[in-house]
Amino acid sequence: MVRLSRTHGGSGLGLRVIGTRRKNRARLNNVATRIYLSLGSNLGDRAAKIASGIAALGAAGIRVLRQSSLYETEPVDFFTQNWFLNNVVEAETQLLPQRLLQELQRIELTLGSLKQIRRGPRRLDMDILFYGNSVIRTPELDVPHPRLADRRFVLVPLAELVPGLAHPVLHRTVAELLAGTKDTSRVRLAEE
Ligand code: AMP
Repeated sequence: MVRLSRTHGGSGLGLRVIGTRRKNRARLNNVATRIYLSLGSNLGDRAAKIASGIAALGAAGIRVLRQSSLYETEPVDFFTQNWFLNNVVEAETQLLPQRLLQELQRIELTLGSLKQIRRGPRRLDMDILFYGNSVIRTPELDVPHPRLADRRFVLVPLAELVPGLAHPVLHRTVAELLAGTKDTSRVRLAEE
């Protein structure tokens, strides 16, 4: 059972509650939903991996509208890792959330993500930050992303795109979350 809920306002349009019987055939929403994705890489040619990930989104049914700058970011969970390159993409899609996650995981695998260590080194990581105003809590998928308010590497590029976007659970804007986060890890604009 996938549970979806909506709050008022914003761009979470046209979501339906999906029951288990409909799960396998319900792959598409009837209208496009605005989404925000976080991309990160800390192995190999990091900028090329992120660019390839963004390039692959269109063929998966995810229309990229804007992307933030690239940021050099200090690893938060494993301090011995290389620094990451991160950015955030604003897009719209008719894919339903579970299907969207599957498509992102397929792209990660195609581009050679190393997933052996949770939160460890990876060539490409793609997370769903927001799916319209939807609040989704399932074993496979948590949206809004549960750790976004604790991660400057997400909040800084997200605030570049949508500082005024309101978090549907925390009821704070992205700029307010960035100003209030306890995370002190370093995030700086990547040199061209
Ligand atoms: P990670 O290896 O840290 O990228 O974690 C990937 C796992 O997080 C996957 O198994 C997903 O099912 C799960 N997950 C839960 N919520 C999200 C989300 N909002 N975006 C991406 N992955 C998610």
